Amino acid sequence: MVQVEIMGHESRIALGSVVEVVEDPAGRLTFEQVRTEESLKWTPSRQPIPNFGYTDSAYWFRVALSNPAENEMERFLVVAYPLIDDLTLYRLENNQVQQVQTGDTRPFATRPLSNRNFVFPLKLAPKSVTYLYIRTQTEGSTQLPLDLWEPKAFHAMDEEILGSHSIYYGMMLVMVFYNLFLYLSIRESAYLYYVGFVFSFAATQAAMNGVLFQYFYPGLPQLHQFSVLLLVPLSILFTSVFSLRFLKLEQLSQRLTLIMKVSIGLALVTVAGAFVLPYGVSTRLSVALAVPICVTILVAGPYAWYKGNTSARYFVAAWVLLLIGIIMAVLNKFGVIPRNTLTEYGLQWGSALEAVLLSFALADRLNREREARLQAQRAIIDEANRREQAEERLIYQATHHGLNGFPNSSILRVCIENLFRDPAAEPFALVLVHLRRFHEINKTLGHENADQVLKLVSRRLQLCVAESPYALVMENHGNQLHRVAHIDGVTFAVLLSPASEASLGTYLPDLLELLIEPVEFDGLRIDLGIVIGAALSQTHGDDVATLMRHAQIGLDAAERKDCCYAIYARSLDSYSAKRLGLMGDLRKSLQDDELTLNFQPQVDMKQGVVTGLEALIRWNHSQHGFIPPDEFIPMAEATGLIKPLTQWVLEKAVATAVQLLESGFRLTVSVNISAVNLREPLFVKSVSDVLRRFRLPENQLVLEITESAIMADPDLALKVLKELHERGIQIAIDDFGTGQSSLSYIRKLPAQEIKMDKSFVMEMDKVTDDAVIVRTTLSMCHNLGYRMVAEGIENDDVYRLLVEMDCDFAQGYFMARPMPLPALQEWLMVSQWSAGCRKASLGSPLGNPSV
Ligand code: C2E
Ligand code: CA
Ligand code: CA
Repeated sequence: MVQVEIMGHESRIALGSVVEVVEDPAGRLTFEQVRTEESLKWTPSRQPIPNFGYTDSAYWFRVALSNPAENEMERFLVVAYPLIDDLTLYRLENNQVQQVQTGDTRPFATRPLSNRNFVFPLKLAPKSVTYLYIRTQTEGSTQLPLDLWEPKAFHAMDEEILGSHSIYYGMMLVMVFYNLFLYLSIRESAYLYYVGFVFSFAATQAAMNGVLFQYFYPGLPQLHQFSVLLLVPLSILFTSVFSLRFLKLEQLSQRLTLIMKVSIGLALVTVAGAFVLPYGVSTRLSVALAVPICVTILVAGPYAWYKGNTSARYFVAAWVLLLIGIIMAVLNKFGVIPRNTLTEYGLQWGSALEAVLLSFALADRLNREREARLQAQRAIIDEANRREQAEERLIYQATHHGLNGFPNSSILRVCIENLFRDPAAEPFALVLVHLRRFHEINKTLGHENADQVLKLVSRRLQLCVAESPYALVMENHGNQLHRVAHIDGVTFAVLLSPASEASLGTYLPDLLELLIEPVEFDGLRIDLGIVIGAALSQTHGDDVATLMRHAQIGLDAAERKDCCYAIYARSLDSYSAKRLGLMGDLRKSLQDDELTLNFQPQVDMKQGVVTGLEALIRWNHSQHGFIPPDEFIPMAEATGLIKPLTQWVLEKAVATAVQLLESGFRLTVSVNISAVNLREPLFVKSVSDVLRRFRLPENQLVLEITESAIMADPDLALKVLKELHERGIQIAIDDFGTGQSSLSYIRKLPAQEIKMDKSFVMEMDKVTDDAVIVRTTLSMCHNLGYRMVAEGIENDDVYRLLVEMDCDFAQGYFMARPMPLPALQEWLMVSQWSAGCRKASLGSPLGNPSV
């Protein structure tokens, strides 16, 4: 037997590689047999820690200790592996056998010294040899870390280890509680898994070190066994669940997730197995499971880090630290590296640091997640802001005019409503400003230019109104005060307060004067035909609709009377009501042939002789008296009554021309037609039919059409006028100069005659500008091959001026007013203007004139 001589100064003698071993596969050998049987093959262990792995065999170890000294020596025989089921020490000295039976399947009280490891105090007599036999049998792995310690040294070492244990367990407990509270407050499941992981990990160590057994249930070895069986797979389970959850493997790699999930499943089975499986099977299963999980974690951590999960670096660091701890401990156990602080405490430090680092990792991850959530929230808020802005823009667009940004009628309405609702508000006026001529500008200059003109007008209006202390601000948008609303196409609105009939009486003419000045655009001076209508709150309306309607009636009246501004009055209102009734009356008058036709002569200026007549309709209403055509013609156009009206005029005029022809006056007859007539599908045919019916030569009929009527649909006008022209009917452009259409456009039309508008003619003897316009127009007309008729000649001066200018025809009160047929016949008989044609008619009486 190997004998170890104890010199006395050694604090520790490692016996692991010194002892001799014999296996007892059946486990039935008795001490006597082991001691005496010569056939047993004792072999030296040669391992620092004899280790036989999982085996059912019992093992016997033996060693002899010799004390060569003169005095008794006290030593501790220490088996530093607390999980041996069955451990029996036989001590043979002077042929006397002492037996101590212990092991972790027995209550703690069986131990000779209360320690988590197996410690046997030995008294070695002086100059003696003590033979020691140890029998072990265990369901776990069979190993025997065997040392002989000098008691004081042992206690010192043991205390040191216990101290570090306490720090370690305390720290782990702190982490457990701290993170448990975190979990309770933020309910993030990763914290719970972490708590489970740290707790089960620390508890597993405490169980395997025998600490739990010693301090918590020393009398319950079964519980000790069970706790080891349960805690190992439990810590594996929590490690897997925590890693899976923390690294978010599901989003990272399907394969790693699958491995992890299978491991979790197996860990669960193992946990359950702790209750039913035999100790050996259960522990083997745990160990088999730990390996793939460790590998998976060691792959998954860096992979997650690589994939951009920055919290994973803490995770990786934590596991690497633990791994270092484990490797150190294992290397030491297998004698590769000597015992040192690192090997002793590496595992604990590693796992403690791991716990701390993982806790950091969790906090880090939580921070990141919160940051991400915050960012998402910010994105939502940004999105909401953007949507709000877009909505604001939409609302702005819906409530403002695109051209000048003025508020539109909806804002105006709200303003008026607010004024009505405000008991402190003073009386106010709604003033409408309308550009009567604008549609002509539109047609003539084109939309883009017209828009520019409209902008100029808007600016002018804004400036005019801004100077008034009475103009109310309707809107304050981006520091811009809006006092003018743009309520439809070419109508603007202003609110004045305080306002009265008297204040409007001074304000409106002033405003008009500022606005009426023609707008300069592209070298043109453009007259916009400004008209203004106004209505007063309280006196003219108590609600938005009424006030608006009444202001509009004022505007209509201003337009009608050409007086350019009008304040609402009841009489105007009755007029508009009257208007509706009038149309019915007009229809009836037409049917009952109550309308009459007047004729105004046209004179050839070269010869001073009448050559034509313009037919002008007259309506003498039985109740309202004379109604000027300027008033009822637009209504007839709007109601469609213009069709039968024009037909009536045409028939009457042609019949008259024929009648006059028969009495010797060969005169052309001019009939006014409106835009609506051009739209009649059979208009050309009906004109031809009339001429054929009354047998008037086509060239004796002139159809007058205004520029604006042509511009209402230029293409259609061109087509219809061409057809009329092809049938020999003559075309005159009426009211030339008011529509601002250019001669270059007119040139395309098959017209022969241009009628200069009377507004340029009437005062051309006094207004030089007018004379200049007439002269230029005239020369252009002649260049383009048109004859010109000057309308509105009221005196001799104008007549002579026009003769001087070489104008072709004259029409006006100076020669003759429009008159009914009998008066005309009379006039024809006596007038100096008809002398020439009388002569002619005398020469060839009865409709065969030579002129
Ligand atoms: P218009 O075609 O420009 O007709 C000429 C107008 O000038 C007539 O007004 C005539 O009375 C007026 N006038 C002629 N000479 C002078 C003058 O020296 N001084 C002044 N201040 N005025 C003069 P009236 O008859 O009141 O007709 C007004 C408008 O009504 C016409 O303007 C025409 O556009 C329309 N109208 C008249 N009869 C008819 C018709 O039968 N059919 C259509 N569609 N419109 C008609
Ligand atoms: Ca006319
Ligand atoms: Ca005219």
